[in-house]
Amino acid sequence: MKKETQCVHSGTYIDSLTRGVNTPIFTSSAYDYLDRDNCPYPRYFNTPNQDVVVKKVCALEGAEDGVVFGSGMAAMSTAILAFAGSGDHVVLMDELYGGTHAFVTDEFQRLGIGYSFAPTDAESVCAAATERTTVIVIETPTNPLLSVIDICKVGAFARERGITTIIDNTFASPINQNPIELGIDIVVHSATKYLGGHSDMCCGVVVTSREKTGRVRTLARHLGGSLNAMDCYLLERSMKTLALRVGRQSENALRLAEFLKGHARVSRVYYPGLPDSPGYEIAKSQMKAYGGMLSFELDERLDASEFVKRLRLISPAVSLGGVESTICAPAVTSHVKMSAVERARIGVTDSLLRFSVGIEDADDLIQDLEQALNRE
Ligand SMILES: *Cc1c(COP(=O)(O)O)cnc(C)c1O
Repeated sequence: MKKETQCVHSGTYIDSLTRGVNTPIFTSSAYDYLDRDNCPYPRYFNTPNQDVVVKKVCALEGAEDGVVFGSGMAAMSTAILAFAGSGDHVVLMDELYGGTHAFVTDEFQRLGIGYSFAPTDAESVCAAATERTTVIVIETPTNPLLSVIDICKVGAFARERGITTIIDNTFASPINQNPIELGIDIVVHSATKYLGGHSDMCCGVVVTSREKTGRVRTLARHLGGSLNAMDCYLLERSMKTLALRVGRQSENALRLAEFLKGHARVSRVYYPGLPDSPGYEIAKSQMKAYGGMLSFELDERLDASEFVKRLRLISPAVSLGGVESTICAPAVTSHVKMSAVERARIGVTDSLLRFSVGIEDADDLIQDLEQALNRE
């Protein structure tokens, strides 16, 4: 089945009682345990609505099994801790979602887990591995500079050494990039973003092999970050339109990236779909389209917060991946906890704006940007 079909049909719970076409919402937290194994319980991650979500993401990512969580960070932290313990070493990239970066720097020392942050390219990531490395964590395209890293190279290197690889695939979504096919073990999504897609829920997903899911699920049961039936239903419903939304968002983002690149008051555009972008060739080889996220820097004559205030259609908001276009300045939002020196080192300047392109008409979005850019 193609993605569009999987989005609609994969995983749906066949309701033989009413023969309705949608998965019913099973709200029970207490189930009859007599004469059955694997009795459902929400924090055991084995209820019908949780299963449906996992099956749909597995179909889209080419995975065997997985776990749905109450946030993207619950998914990421559980995935890492399932394969790294005291005495182990984890390799991560400099450019990584701020929350993952903070999780590592705040907690790993206390847990006895060693770590290295490597520059954002496959060679540097592989070179940072030591004999103790058990996990490599990558993210591509990255937040907020849309850097791209070669997934196959990292996957092949790690597989040879028995190192578990984890990728944060949030920005690409399963529509544009399927890392398991490219040799990665574990795919993590902040489902708060594209999978949810309407800026109204917080959830996350891990998908991988059946064997690795066993370890993730065991730790998840201890840590307890489960997702309730209502939100599972909402997430399932949202994912039915995932291919449509991401398709439109990717088309819009390419047009807007081209528009911004040609504008005199924009000094730089970061989008892996622009042929002169440094990550273009790698992106082209591992992505189906380049996604709905782009970043740009304003000319120094324009003030970033004044510019954002002038926008009428595009709203200032921190999260991303919704049907509506949103924009934010990472220096004062997602990366505010990082020191100014560290921000400068990874290229997050004060004039950088991260743009989550929605499904609106591209001409309307261009018009909004144009009036805000051209105003004196
Ligand atoms: C938002 C985000 C996360 C964290 O997800 P939450 O649902 O907020 O916990 C992780 N990775 C990326 C790339 C994100 O954008």
